[in-house]
Amino acid sequence: MRFKGKTALVTGGSRGIGAATARRLASEGAQVWVGYRERADKAAEVVASIEEEGGVAHSVAIDVTSSVSVQSAVDTVLATSDRIDVLVNSAGITRDGLLLAMDEDQWSEVLDTNAGGSYRVVKVVARTMLRQRSGSIVLLSSVAGQKAGRGHANYAASKGAVEAMTRALANELARKKIRVNAVAPGVILTDMSARVREAAADVIKGEILQKRFGEPEEVAAAIAFLASDDASYVTGQVLSVDGGFKM
Ligand code: NDP
Repeated sequence: MRFKGKTALVTGGSRGIGAATARRLASEGAQVWVGYRERADKAAEVVASIEEEGGVAHSVAIDVTSSVSVQSAVDTVLATSDRIDVLVNSAGITRDGLLLAMDEDQWSEVLDTNAGGSYRVVKVVARTMLRQRSGSIVLLSSVAGQKAGRGHANYAASKGAVEAMTRALANELARKKIRVNAVAPGVILTDMSARVREAAADVIKGEILQKRFGEPEEVAAAIAFLASDDASYVTGQVLSVDGGFKM
């Protein structure tokens, strides 16, 4: 029960890694806010599954591309919970394409959601954490931020930005007792990776030391570690959770 008495906000909590993280944090005692952009139905399913296990959760609409939406979601959380101890920014998108076929919308939408979204969410939540003089933030990078892949220029750039931002924000916020870390998942069994897995499962598995894709719960476990007091002396780090893919 590492998160007993704590409040956590998980963006992109309606599906995939965010949903698994919301469940994991709730199972360890956190009151969890499950953020979604469009899929209110999926967020409601996550909340229901947490409640069935005896946990406490709520859903909240939060679009990380909009400062207004982020502020409104955080206001909603604070109106009920009064504090935010853990922030996990799992909201993210891909719009893959080879460079010459990648239009400016494809480039900017991915940068704006993955890197811009991290900036907007951390900026608003940090105000609360600064007031509390405590907090733990976990951002989502990707193996793509460090390992070159075809058709990923926008996504790789966005995740490289997240990693650099993790270090910069850790530096800026450490004196206020706020830790900032990131996880860099490999290929995880969620909606996001479905197309890539269908197209080249054997080739990709061949490059992964553990010869399998990861489960969202395996990423959630790493996020929970970084978010918890078990990682009280860890900040500014990017933890790979990729079965050895990067190597
Ligand atoms: P999914 O596609 O399964 O889920 C994406 C989640 O992000 C959904 O909850 C979705 O909400 C939300 N989302 C998308 N756009 C926005 C937005 N503008 N504002 C708020 N929420 C948004 O993705 P994963 O769970 O697989 O990925 C989670 C994170 O992990 C991402 O940052 C991704 O880049 C990263 N990652 C994933 C890997 C993988 O193999 N799956 C590998 C490496 C990194 P809604 O349901 O409402 O649409």
